Amino acid sequence: MTASTRRQFLRSAAAAAAASQLPLQQAVAAPARSRRAATGARVSERAWRELERRLRGRVLRPGEAGYARASLPFNRRYADTTPAGIARCTGEDDVREAVVWAREHDVPLAARSGGHSYAGYSTTRGLLIDLGAMRSVRVDDEAGTVLAQAGARNTGLYAALQPYDVAISAGRCPTVGIGGLALGGGFGFSSRALGLTRDSLVETRLVTASGRILRITRDRHPDLFWALRGGGGGNFGISTQFRFRTSPVSSVGLYDLTWDAEHAPKVMLALETMMRDAPHTLSCRMGMGSNGRDAPTVTALGQLFGPVAQLRELLAPVLAVARPRRSLIARRTFWQAKDHFFHNTPVDRFAVKSSFVEGPLTEQALDVIARGVRRYPGSTNADGGGVALYAWGGRIGRVPAGATAFVHRHASWLMAYDASWTARDSRSTVARNLDWLGGFAEELRPHVSGSAYQNFIDRSQRDWRRAYYGSNFERLAAVKRRVDPDDLFSFRQGV
Ligand SMILES: Cc1cc2nc3c(=O)[nH]c(=O)nc-3n(C[C@H](O)[C@H](O)[C@H](O)COP(=O)(O)OP(=O)(O)OC[C@H]3O[C@@H](n4cnc5c(N)ncnc54)[C@H](O)[C@@H]3O)c2cc1C
Repeated sequence: MTASTRRQFLRSAAAAAAASQLPLQQAVAAPARSRRAATGARVSERAWRELERRLRGRVLRPGEAGYARASLPFNRRYADTTPAGIARCTGEDDVREAVVWAREHDVPLAARSGGHSYAGYSTTRGLLIDLGAMRSVRVDDEAGTVLAQAGARNTGLYAALQPYDVAISAGRCPTVGIGGLALGGGFGFSSRALGLTRDSLVETRLVTASGRILRITRDRHPDLFWALRGGGGGNFGISTQFRFRTSPVSSVGLYDLTWDAEHAPKVMLALETMMRDAPHTLSCRMGMGSNGRDAPTVTALGQLFGPVAQLRELLAPVLAVARPRRSLIARRTFWQAKDHFFHNTPVDRFAVKSSFVEGPLTEQALDVIARGVRRYPGSTNADGGGVALYAWGGRIGRVPAGATAFVHRHASWLMAYDASWTARDSRSTVARNLDWLGGFAEELRPHVSGSAYQNFIDRSQRDWRRAYYGSNFERLAAVKRRVDPDDLFSFRQGV
């Protein structure tokens, strides 16, 4: 077969298979991928033009208008990994054509929805398959569902839901993509009450390595339905859209409290005690942060799906420990609270590590946190460094660990520690930030479990297979072997 007839064959095979029920790997009869092509640099200009012809969306190449901006990941730490080309997909067919083309030309690929991967995994030197323009969100009020394309952002999702006063649990960063958020779990201030983002998933569509498009539900491709609920982005194919079950929401009691750091361990211990017996309708994020110059602060932020009087009662023992420097406890609509929680992280460079805590957070652990944050060396990034602790449990913990790919069901807290800097900082400042983060993680190790959150993916995570997927890893690997035996969707910490 000549190259061009082979390409035609591959295209028509992919199209035919999309509508058929062929076994997952039979659609595109491409050879196993060679590992030769580490970049897309060897691909001919003709081939790139052909990709352009196949897509309804644009293909951006280095130097073209829009390329530089479109290639940038949210975490600028990984901005040096630039793609040979960017497929700006306008719909599912574009995604499929891009996957088939990349496979056919042996070009490495990465999918991007919102581009917020902590570890920069939606970057590649090959073909970046960008779903960022696929952002439509449609609510079906009668069915009690919302259909979001993978490139929709938290902000677009909430905006579509608000007129109906229904919600799903989603994140607090306005620009995080639903694609990455849902595939790795997805938590926010409603998760103890409503479950994780992925817990309300009822259907998704996936473009596989072979170019098939699968509709995936509990009954259709149940193994993939299991794997895509917590198995992490970038592993099994490219999800183009997600249908979630919605829940009605109305008003909440909101709290936002700030104390001086001298109260840190005592206040945090009181918050930990409060959350131990709290109703699942109460959420809590406690944090301690520093910019390396001013005195650190301790914060507590959350909401209660319930009356403010009940919220005050729940918070009373915490407020009795120390008087906050700033305090807001008030009734808000769900949507006002969501706006209050929205946090625009500066778009720059950062590193994040995470650990789940099982059992109570001890006084010693909180002491390590308080001392560690005080040692933060500082940088020119306004976000500085620190620790955030998100209360787990509630509805999150009501799903058995093996029922979906998201194994972290029985934790009490998710702990995230981060350091940030900017391009203006010297190498030694960056090194000091990373040393601080690594040292902090080591000090905390005796106080946390070995598990970590796959959506806070960290290139230096020890034993990441166990940390992110625990006892679910083997089953995930088996699904992966079946759906993508040639490892087309591959990255450093890919299943
Ligand atoms: C500022 C900030 C705030 C955050 N806040 C929260 C929060 O409140 N709650 C929370 O749970 N998480 C939060 N996260 C983490 C976030 O959930 C993950 O980083 C998530 O993976 C981002 O999704 P994305 O689509 O924006 O990222 P991307 O970088 O586009 O994708 C992440 C990974 O998924 C793959 N991928 C992307 N799209 C697809 C697709 N359609 N199909 C298959 N694979 C795909 C990518 O290749 C990459 O490996 C936050 C992250 C940041 C940077």
